[in-house]
Amino acid sequence: MIKRLVRSVQTLLTRKPRIRRTPRCIPASEHGIDRALVSRSAIRTCETLQAAGFRAYIVGGAVRDLLLGVAPKDFDVATDATPEQVKSHFRRAIIIGRRFRLVHVLFGSETIETSTFRALDNGNRDTDEHGRVLADNVFGEQHEDAARRDFTVNALYYDPTRQEVLDYHDGVRDVRRRRLRIIGNPEMRYREDPVRMLRAVRFAAKLGFEIDAETREPIGRLADLIGNVPAARVFDEMLKLLTSGHAVACIERLRAEGLHHGLLPLLDVILEQPQGERFVMLALSRTDERVRAGKHIAPGFLFATLLWHEVLAQWNARTATGAHRIPALHEAIDHVLDVQTEKLAIHRRFTSDMREIWVMQPRFERRIGQMPFRMLEHVRLRAGYDFLQLRCDSGEAPIELGQWWSAFLHSGPDDRAQMTQPPARGEGNATPSGSKPRRRGGRRRRAGADAAAGSAPEPRVAPTDDGA
Ligand code: ATP
Ligand code: MG
Repeated sequence: MIKRLVRSVQTLLTRKPRIRRTPRCIPASEHGIDRALVSRSAIRTCETLQAAGFRAYIVGGAVRDLLLGVAPKDFDVATDATPEQVKSHFRRAIIIGRRFRLVHVLFGSETIETSTFRALDNGNRDTDEHGRVLADNVFGEQHEDAARRDFTVNALYYDPTRQEVLDYHDGVRDVRRRRLRIIGNPEMRYREDPVRMLRAVRFAAKLGFEIDAETREPIGRLADLIGNVPAARVFDEMLKLLTSGHAVACIERLRAEGLHHGLLPLLDVILEQPQGERFVMLALSRTDERVRAGKHIAPGFLFATLLWHEVLAQWNARTATGAHRIPALHEAIDHVLDVQTEKLAIHRRFTSDMREIWVMQPRFERRIGQMPFRMLEHVRLRAGYDFLQLRCDSGEAPIELGQWWSAFLHSGPDDRAQMTQPPARGEGNATPSGSKPRRRGGRRRRAGADAAAGSAPEPRVAPTDDGA
């Protein structure tokens, strides 16, 4: 009760009364948006609604990206039509969401997320005890909609018909200055929705923007509030961060903001495992390269990399007490998936991919006989092989094992048969199960793209057959 009273007084004292009702209207000659970068479907959505007498604008990240001359990855539309009115004007449209109802207007494989202008908080919004908004379905004026968006650069409205940008919060100036500034009182805005702290870090890293001092200041203090957000929502935001094409920069930014401890279990996994850091950072930098090259990212693969060193630790612990190697791996995986995925809220649909990738790893060591040929038929061979290469490049598995597999995959049938023959007596040191992973030695090359300092400890390695 007292807490609430103190908070209301604080809120009254800190609330910024100035809400701009009339936007700055910026003509095409000034904003310079290239219409060729604008989605046809987004234009059609706006035109259809405008023809029906409504106001409709492209809004949010798409306008920000257009001003930066970057092709947006998706388009959102904001309108004064209600979700039901929007739906009635399109052949393929569905109303989604509970906390925030909006319409998905579908054009082939493209979806235009169309939301109705939201009203500002009049004090009646449903919140939890920390001020987090639980439902946000009160419709309002455009200026209110602008004021409740997160950052000034995300609160711009582009009318593709008139080719004008409406700017209520000096967002265009902030885009030009490359500055991320939250709208309104930073602390209040983070309390309403703590995910905005993660968004600040993601946008700053992705866009290469500076976080404004006032916007940045409360983040370290309020980081704990993220713990109150439903795990599934945090997971989605983390997935966006990890697949933004700037995951390494995001992680570095989180560190710089002091947000890498206790903010999220998943980040702790990434940043607080000295032995796995090199592997994880290498995995993330490869993920960034793939995203930037427009390639698909499999979340299962990504999470398999993030948790691999947890699996290794569990696996080693089990073989150290005499457990057989392969059953021990399965037990270790079960343990990690049970404990970690619950904590991290990793969707179940990704965990079967993770398991398959992990289970394949010891099989790659068996280079003699039929096993390599069986591996060729494995539906996840590519993912398992890429994973093996990461292990080799990070110094956890022998480089030579990865090289052997690269050669095997690129060889014809005769060479493959030759490669999988047992060595003649006295030649080499291959065992019936293939070569053992070499323990780390002076000869092993260090991973190139790692962000870890040179003083990184010895990497943890997979148990070999020795102990089993
Ligand atoms: P991205 O390039 O990642 O898609 P985006 O800015 O478009 O960036 P979205 O998550 O697609 O981000 O959200 C669209 C818009 O909705 C944002 O630009 C912002 O205006 C608004 N928005 C999204 N999440 C929030 C939030 N948590 N609080 C306030 N406004 C938000
Ligand atoms: Mg978007």
